[in-house]
Amino acid sequence: MNTTKSVYKGRFAPSPTGALHFGSLIAAVSSYLQAKSQQGQWLIRIEDVDKTREIPGSAEHILSTLDSLGFEWDDTVIYQSQQTELYEYYLHTLISKGLVYACDCSRSKLKQSATKAGIYPGYCRDKKRSLTSPYALRCQVSSDTVNINDQIQGALCVNLADNCGDFVIKRRDQFFAYQLAVVADDHSQGITDIIRGADLLPSTPIQIYLQQQLEFSTPHYGHIPVAMHAHGQKLSKSHQDLSLHEHDAVETLHQALLFLDQSPPEDLAHSSQSEFWQWAIQNWDIKRISRQREKVFALDLSLGGTL
Ligand code: GLU
Repeated sequence: MNTTKSVYKGRFAPSPTGALHFGSLIAAVSSYLQAKSQQGQWLIRIEDVDKTREIPGSAEHILSTLDSLGFEWDDTVIYQSQQTELYEYYLHTLISKGLVYACDCSRSKLKQSATKAGIYPGYCRDKKRSLTSPYALRCQVSSDTVNINDQIQGALCVNLADNCGDFVIKRRDQFFAYQLAVVADDHSQGITDIIRGADLLPSTPIQIYLQQQLEFSTPHYGHIPVAMHAHGQKLSKSHQDLSLHEHDAVETLHQALLFLDQSPPEDLAHSSQSEFWQWAIQNWDIKRISRQREKVFALDLSLGGTL
């Protein structure tokens, strides 16, 4: 009898486009606690595939902030900018399946097109162009429905043809697109569970579709609500920097637990970091997180540091 239990592997995958803010902290905390509460591993991947958006120094800054907040990660940190060969490999698998075509549609042409915004109308699908630059490469979608069984948001069915159409996997500027990079990395790192913000929910059916085409298994997904200001702006947009003075760290983590509906006792906000993490791991329950895509949160701005 095979008694080996498959190892839980979660991950946090920040883009180095600025400092760690409350919006990304809740993704880090929830993915970390879900992994640790199941004796699993938790990996970090820096998603610097889009070099045009990167803010130099922010990857190191995010890692040092996570470290100062007491997160402990497994394995070495992966950088997407060093994974190009892996992406090329899977691009060629998709090409060999006849799913990829070159597209020269400009943004302005797509804006003027009569179809619903954000859905690629397939103009270049049958043009049979060579797959060499300067064109973007798109992956054809099918009319099949993609099913998502989200641990927080519930069951969802999405038809990609009606929701996004054929999507870009390699950009005109030759950077690989996020969708292919993330699917290739999650697979090669053996990720079994993905907990992240609900702003990424529209990407999930695309990623599941790519996993199916590449014959990868699909991880379990859970999308936490996006933290919003009362006036309707994402908390991340206000670029609050969480590189805190040490004594503020636990208070900030306590706020993250409040946001995630874990009802931490008030005095946990004034405990030591190790007491905090011990309580949080022991009491973590993903089922308590509210099934909302966005949630207004009045972050306690009386906290010190640069928060
Ligand atoms: N890099 C993405 C971000 O920072 C997260 C991608 C993911 O978790 O799949 O928003």
